Amino acid sequence: MKKVIIVGGGLVGALEAIYMAQRGYDVKVYEKRPDIRKANINAGKSINLVISKRGWASLEKVGLRQEIEPLTVPVYGRMTHDVKGNQNFIPYSSKKEPIYSVSRGGLNAKLLEIAEQYPNVELFFNEKCVNVDLNAPSVTFYNYETQKTQTVQGDLVIGADGAYSEVRNRLMRTDRYNYSQQYIEHGYKELHIPANEDGSPKIDVNALHIWPRKNFMLMALANLDNSFTCTLFFPFEGNPSFESIQTEEDLMKFFQTTFPDAVPLMPTLKEDYFSNPASSLVIIRCYPWHYQNKVVLIGDAAHAIVPFYGEGMNCGFEDCLEFDRILTETNDNLAKALPLYTQTRKPNGDAIADLSLRNFVEMRDLVADEKWLLRKKIEEHMYQKHPDKWIPLYSQVKFTTIPYAQALKEGQKHDAIMEKILALPDIQNKWNSEEIEQQILSML
Ligand SMILES: Cc1cc2nc3c(=O)[nH]c(=O)nc-3n(C[C@H](O)[C@H](O)[C@H](O)COP(=O)(O)OP(=O)(O)OC[C@H]3O[C@@H](n4cnc5c(N)ncnc54)[C@H](O)[C@@H]3O)c2cc1C
Repeated sequence: MKKVIIVGGGLVGALEAIYMAQRGYDVKVYEKRPDIRKANINAGKSINLVISKRGWASLEKVGLRQEIEPLTVPVYGRMTHDVKGNQNFIPYSSKKEPIYSVSRGGLNAKLLEIAEQYPNVELFFNEKCVNVDLNAPSVTFYNYETQKTQTVQGDLVIGADGAYSEVRNRLMRTDRYNYSQQYIEHGYKELHIPANEDGSPKIDVNALHIWPRKNFMLMALANLDNSFTCTLFFPFEGNPSFESIQTEEDLMKFFQTTFPDAVPLMPTLKEDYFSNPASSLVIIRCYPWHYQNKVVLIGDAAHAIVPFYGEGMNCGFEDCLEFDRILTETNDNLAKALPLYTQTRKPNGDAIADLSLRNFVEMRDLVADEKWLLRKKIEEHMYQKHPDKWIPLYSQVKFTTIPYAQALKEGQKHDAIMEKILALPDIQNKWNSEEIEQQILSML
């Protein structure tokens, strides 16, 4: 049995363990944190996240949808909240397709539990990767409990150790390795909306709530217990920013004028705001994602992206699915499979990084814009009438498995067409006419 060492037992590492176990590999997963199933620890980043079509496709391939779906809340669209507190529901798709909110910790724990049921999987916790010998290949771990190091040898090392990957750090010291890292000017802070005392939700659980305010936004996503995790995406510096809000008075004044309808929903706003960290958001690109037939990167270790499309984990899950497909295609010949994986996945990792930045502008600004709303109506109309010819970009990303790079390209084409259509005289009144439909089709 070929031995695979997976560094990182987060969302992607845990799913990859299941994939490799099903392929018959001897799998050892080393995670630097304590076992999330036993320790009362926060998974680090967002408390909840959304699963989309690609995530499901990857879970389904290893037979996990039935076990995971009960942990989720379906979300059918965005509910925007303006400064007066007016709400407007914008469905994600005219086909009523949902994305699914899930607890990060709950999902991670479930995947670890499932992975551990395979006789050929072993999980080790409190083991921090401190070095990788790429040629062996072997990995050295430091154990936080015993304070000892050990070196483990395998046939393949999979780096699933997230945005600040130690495995990638080692790859970066090889010749002609490309790497870039960019922090955006915004960070995020998590806040909380509890359920009502009787357990009912304070706002609609089947919507992703957004308070779009041009350069920043607040959003809220439901948890299974009808509470909501809110995320404030906010600049670190300037006015307003994390820097400009220093006191409880600053905070309440800002929230009461900017998000007035959110304030009564958040009884612990002051405590949450001043006790939760303002976390940074980074985009990491690197190339290649493998070393010879010995080491490969998956998930955030290969492509850390900003969270505005909610696709980081979904993309990481799709890495597992695609790597599995390539292993099958190459008869598990790692010398062929690893370069092919880099070649097919890297353009898609780059594309979802670009798409995610683009969606930030859409979420924080455009969803409240009349022209954008009209465009959305036209696109959904086209999607309903010509689903084989026009799939809106958001639907391509969230509700299909069309490669991200292809979706990005088509999205750019749609932008150019829509710019012309929206400039037509009287478009507000004839947007769903036969004439407009034909014009759009002729430009495809
Ligand atoms: C605010 C926010 C919201 C998000 N929302 C969504 C969403 O809605 N949908 C979505 O798809 N994605 C979302 N994401 C992105 C998603 O969180 C990541 O893409 C996903 O967590 C990547 O999983 P991973 O397993 O690759 O990395 P991680 O989740 O970072 O896991 C890496 C694991 O490796 C371990 N590790 C790290 N270093 C070492 C080491 N040296 N030795 C051993 N172990 C190590 C870590 O402890 C961790 O458990 C969001 C991200 C943020 C910040």
